[in-house]
Amino acid sequence: MRGRALLLVLVLLAPLAAGTVQGQRPEHPVQDAWPGEPIDNHVHMTWAALTLEVNGWADDHPDIVDLMDVGDSELGRTLWVVRLSDWSMDTKPNGSAKEIVYIDGGHHGNEYLGTALAYLTAKFYINEWAAGNQEAIDVLQHTELHILIMLNPDGNDIDTRWNINQVDLNRNYDHYWNTCPTTQPGSSAFSESETMHNSDYMNAYVTDADLYVTMHTGVWIMLYPWGKWADQPPDWELFWGIREDVHATVSDIPIQNANQGLYPNCGTSRDYGYGVMGFPTFTFETDDEQFVPGSFESLHDRLAEELDVMRFLINNVWYWRARLDVNALDVSRDAVTLDVTNHGYASTTNASLEYRLADGSVAWASALFNVNATTSKTVELPFDGSRLVSGGSWNLNYQKRVIDASTWVNESIPTEAIDETGADAGDAMPVGAAPLLVVSLLAAVVAEGQNRRKNGNTEAHED
Ligand SMILES: [Zn+2]
Repeated sequence: MRGRALLLVLVLLAPLAAGTVQGQRPEHPVQDAWPGEPIDNHVHMTWAALTLEVNGWADDHPDIVDLMDVGDSELGRTLWVVRLSDWSMDTKPNGSAKEIVYIDGGHHGNEYLGTALAYLTAKFYINEWAAGNQEAIDVLQHTELHILIMLNPDGNDIDTRWNINQVDLNRNYDHYWNTCPTTQPGSSAFSESETMHNSDYMNAYVTDADLYVTMHTGVWIMLYPWGKWADQPPDWELFWGIREDVHATVSDIPIQNANQGLYPNCGTSRDYGYGVMGFPTFTFETDDEQFVPGSFESLHDRLAEELDVMRFLINNVWYWRARLDVNALDVSRDAVTLDVTNHGYASTTNASLEYRLADGSVAWASALFNVNATTSKTVELPFDGSRLVSGGSWNLNYQKRVIDASTWVNESIPTEAIDETGADAGDAMPVGAAPLLVVSLLAAVVAEGQNRRKNGNTEAHED
């Protein structure tokens, strides 16, 4: 109690001592002291201590911390999601949508170092935002971090892998549930309130996440899908690309397919996150030790390298999908030629080009084409140039990743990239002018009389 009271006094005095605007405390000693209570002086962070902490964060930093109660554990303990972003802005400074990252910890109640990494990740961004650190400011202006620190508070309290019903929560998800040799997967998929609330949250709030990390401990390794199968996942390029970058710049932590890196496992949150939600998903096994560390080494030091890996994954989340950028779109009388770059680390296999009328309806869609990760390519697609109308526009439609479950993107192609002058045989006349009108009228003649009359009037009016 005394420690906590002292901390409270320090928190209250800090802004006075600094004497500066909030968010600018350059020499604040917070970085040396962190993480501080409740995890420095306890062998084990209880659910009660966590509850005090996360509510304290929300009270002290309403500008960046949005705390959400997302349901109860089987014994009625609140599952907290800490939502971190610069909540003064709904979008990035340039107006585009923020990237979304989902993190959970503590599926297994006796894997304290995994829970602690989820906690440290949240605390890092809160501390550093308050200290005016540019990396934290950039991340929170461009990203939403949703962190469910302790998914299994009942198991955490009694220091056991299982939840209170003796179910292994990380075998209880609705993805090939109970189809591997496994123990205690529950009576059915999502039979446990903890997993049900976790999947409900994913489906309600973070469907468009471009990163999901679920934190455990026991073997120092990061596992990507699948646990169910030995095969590489459809987005192997993405996972391999991330591995290459992590190894080149941050850490030599092993990164492997879960089935081969660990053992076959089914109904995990990782396979669900990827196979059902379409997220790039990692199980982060933080340490060779599974249980509470019996040393005086601070968790901050113990998990420093793991936190660096998390910062890398979060800083670069923009790349963890296919991200197509149209360099040029040339329309001729019988084709469109698309010059496109994929800046992302994931391939897309079902992109298509759309031509839309002024009312937004899709008048034409191309055949599907693929664009590999981190490449540029030119795609030529047959197109009838006479279909151009005034007010028409071009869109690109594609999936963010190869996995079936990944979300779709439909983006308009900027007009400055589009050249439609080739569609009317080099004539300088604008779209919808005479040559096109002739083609339209000829087409209309084929149609029944009533329509012909109507089309003719419409086209004539356009000019
Ligand atoms: Zn675990």
